[in-house]
Amino acid sequence: MNADLVVVGTGFFGLTVAERMASAGRRVLMIDRREHLGGNAYSEDEPTTGIEVHRYGAHLFHTANERVWEYANRFTDFTSYTHRVYTTHRGEVFPMPINLGTINQFFRSAYGPEAARALIREQAAELGDKNPENLDEQGVRLIGRPLYEAFIREYTAKQWQTDPRDLPASVISRLPVRYTYDNRYFNDPHQGLPVDGYTAWLERMADHPNIEVRLGTDFFDTSQPVHQRAVVGQVPVVYTGPVDRYFDYAEGELSWRTLDFDTEVLDVGDFQGTSVMNYADAEVPYTRIHEFRHFHPERDYPSDRTVIMREYSRFAERQDEPYYPVNTPEDRERLRRYRALMDGEQDVHFGGRLGTYQYLDMHMAIGSALSMVDNKLS
Ligand code: FAD
Ligand code: UDP
Repeated sequence: MNADLVVVGTGFFGLTVAERMASAGRRVLMIDRREHLGGNAYSEDEPTTGIEVHRYGAHLFHTANERVWEYANRFTDFTSYTHRVYTTHRGEVFPMPINLGTINQFFRSAYGPEAARALIREQAAELGDKNPENLDEQGVRLIGRPLYEAFIREYTAKQWQTDPRDLPASVISRLPVRYTYDNRYFNDPHQGLPVDGYTAWLERMADHPNIEVRLGTDFFDTSQPVHQRAVVGQVPVVYTGPVDRYFDYAEGELSWRTLDFDTEVLDVGDFQGTSVMNYADAEVPYTRIHEFRHFHPERDYPSDRTVIMREYSRFAERQDEPYYPVNTPEDRERLRRYRALMDGEQDVHFGGRLGTYQYLDMHMAIGSALSMVDNKLS
């Protein structure tokens, strides 16, 4: 094989490693079992409207990491899109994440920041001094029980179908709670969407004479030349597929959530007036509806048609796309045993969302790939 490094998976983690190593003069062979590159950030234009649809769920780029921001800007410009989300609860629309606007609308009040803080503190008092140990306790600690039950509990039950007491507090720690009317979804100083779409950005990362990409190639398919047994021990490997699959599930399966997307083209110019509407209540079977035209108000999209996508969450079986690590205590114990196996693999580096069983945003995947290049591969 004519390569100094094999990278399994062409998501942001694999592409960042490949691009950096190729720029340093190494020949990199990338494989992906899908028929397109880019992993879950891949997007394509819906053919009848030209509206860019994120095939694996809406992707919003945001970061506070200057190095990642500078690196991303080498491959794409970003629009000034600022993400805002609304949620529907009992027939009424509220701004998310929870901010002074949500609190005052919910309690039909006109609190200022201090009065709202005092109210939430009082409602969170049931926990005493206890440090929140799971999502349920974290929710009550952050926003008090009434808001938690309205906006978080049922949505989370739809999203995870796991007892919130078995979910780590970290799942909702990334949702800010603000005592101002600022309803931006993300706090990060840098955010935006790639001007000419995700796929153009992802393809530019792979566009290097030292990078070869083979699509439709599964690392565990022994009928093709670049597979696990033929490669490991011969060439250094960066593996970004599921870690349990790599070890043939020797320590059991790690649990994941997958999503089903129901995409529709509608004969209206605007369906919901915003890019993402969450549905907080258990009676609505989907968690949210995305309307892709609103991600790019600067584009010249048709004014009489729109594309929406309903998102449903369920437990992932082996043949499903793994999207969110569930991370129950049993998963964490299994992962510990897989980590010991990973340490024993010579010249195989596990990275990315699937390879480390971690929820990573795009900027985190890029950042940890840059660190892997610095610390292990260079
Ligand atoms: P992936 O993009 O998953 O890439 C892994 C690649 O490995 C895939 O292409 C897969 O086909 C390939 N692969 C797996 N097994 C094999 C095999 N056996 N052989 C060959 N190839 C294999 N991040 C944000 O910053 N903002 C967001 O708004 C956001 N929204 C998201 C919404 C959803 C529904 C999901 C699932 C993720 C979201 N993310 C978001 C996270 C983002 O998708 C990831 O950070 C990014 O894709 C991580 O890249 P990765 O390279 O680790 O993994
Ligand atoms: N969440 C919620 N209600 C909402 C939005 C989020 O309960 O309206 C919780 C839910 O548990 C979710 C987590 O916060 O899994 C993280 O939300 P985020 O929107 O960041 O999730 P993602 O976009 O990754 O699905």
